[in-house]
Amino acid sequence: MKHVAIIGSTGSIGTQTLEIARWNQDIKICALSAGRNIDLLEKQAREFRPEIVGLWDEKLADELKDRLKDMDIRVVSGMDGLIEIAEYKTSDILVTAIVGMIGIRPTIAAMNAGKDIALANKETLVTAGHIIMSLEKEKHVRILPVDSEHSAIFQSLNGETGNKIHKILLTASGGPFRGKKPEDLAHIQVEDALRHPNWTMGRKITIDSSTLVNKGLEVMEAKWLFDVDIDKIHVLVQPKSVIHSMVGFVDGAVMAQLGTPDMRLPIQYALYYPERNYLGGERLNFEALANIQFEKPNTDVLRGIPIAVEASRIGGSMLTAMNAANEYAVARFLKKDIAFFQIYDMIEYAMSKHRVIKHPDLSQILETERETYERLNKDWRNVSR
Ligand code: NDP
Repeated sequence: MKHVAIIGSTGSIGTQTLEIARWNQDIKICALSAGRNIDLLEKQAREFRPEIVGLWDEKLADELKDRLKDMDIRVVSGMDGLIEIAEYKTSDILVTAIVGMIGIRPTIAAMNAGKDIALANKETLVTAGHIIMSLEKEKHVRILPVDSEHSAIFQSLNGETGNKIHKILLTASGGPFRGKKPEDLAHIQVEDALRHPNWTMGRKITIDSSTLVNKGLEVMEAKWLFDVDIDKIHVLVQPKSVIHSMVGFVDGAVMAQLGTPDMRLPIQYALYYPERNYLGGERLNFEALANIQFEKPNTDVLRGIPIAVEASRIGGSMLTAMNAANEYAVARFLKKDIAFFQIYDMIEYAMSKHRVIKHPDLSQILETERETYERLNKDWRNVSR
């Protein structure tokens, strides 16, 4: 029996993880948490009967306690609650399906408690990669990638590491604005950016996909997970999202993982690794795929990748400044406070003002996040070009 805890159980990754649990009798869900979605969390608690559930919002957590009083389930709230869930005594593995840097503290707590991590929450690895990857060694736990590209790289590598890797080919769909010119994008609305061609995901990552910031974050995620130099990671647009990524080896061999765009595969692979289990669903039809197309990403217009690569080259706390500014800007864009291209302007502004700490500890990372939010809150009206 595999005991699984999920932070972010009501979101896109969280609900797909529970779908896997629903079909596999050997998975026991022991802990669940969400932000504010009390109705769905209550439903999940009644179906999966975990020992503990948490809501970020304290008042809603009190209401949930009341709603679940007929069941023997502990209800917690806030960051203490999230941490309690992350390190919950009976779990073997934590699925980090929460969105944003808020995932850092629970992920670290879980690793310190000896839990494996099925990592979806890329913002944690981008901003605290040096802490997470050294904890992995120190605590003898595993970080198993859930992001489809990183799962594909992990599967293609199949244990090979280091100087055998010639390059990593990180594939990208190109997002909803692939091939567009700046003038086509001048009046983009939130709804346009939320229309991803291949994947149905949470709102924040969908906007990140439209700006290609998501691909930039994934370059950094790959750097940490597979310990490769950033120059060895190449982004390749493959619009249909059937090749989930590839690895080129020094002897010229290229390994790839293909499949229909279905996040349940990488989630299930992370949960059962090193086993491979049956998963129902659509299979690839190679005749229908006769011409797989490749192209370079449109980085002149959609600047997410070069901005992220620059942050990664500078390193240290610049990664947090970049990521926090993006989280801030995306939230403002989703509220229709700023225009699409201002997302890049805000990130670049925050990076230009940030004084880098070379090896930030956790408190310095969280302080950089706070500072970045404060700066953008104060200055954002003047940031626009
Ligand atoms: P969603 O927005 O769909 O879900 C986010 C989840 O986090 C929800 O359950 C939400 O709860 C919860 N949450 C938000 N704030 C808090 C908080 N303060 N305390 C506790 N829980 C909170 O996001 P996704 O599932 O799309 O993405 C999750 C992570 O996985 C992101 O880091 C993303 O980049 C990554 N990822 C996602 C992929 C996808 O296909 N969706 C693919 C690869 C990576 P509530 O519902 O109550 O708001």
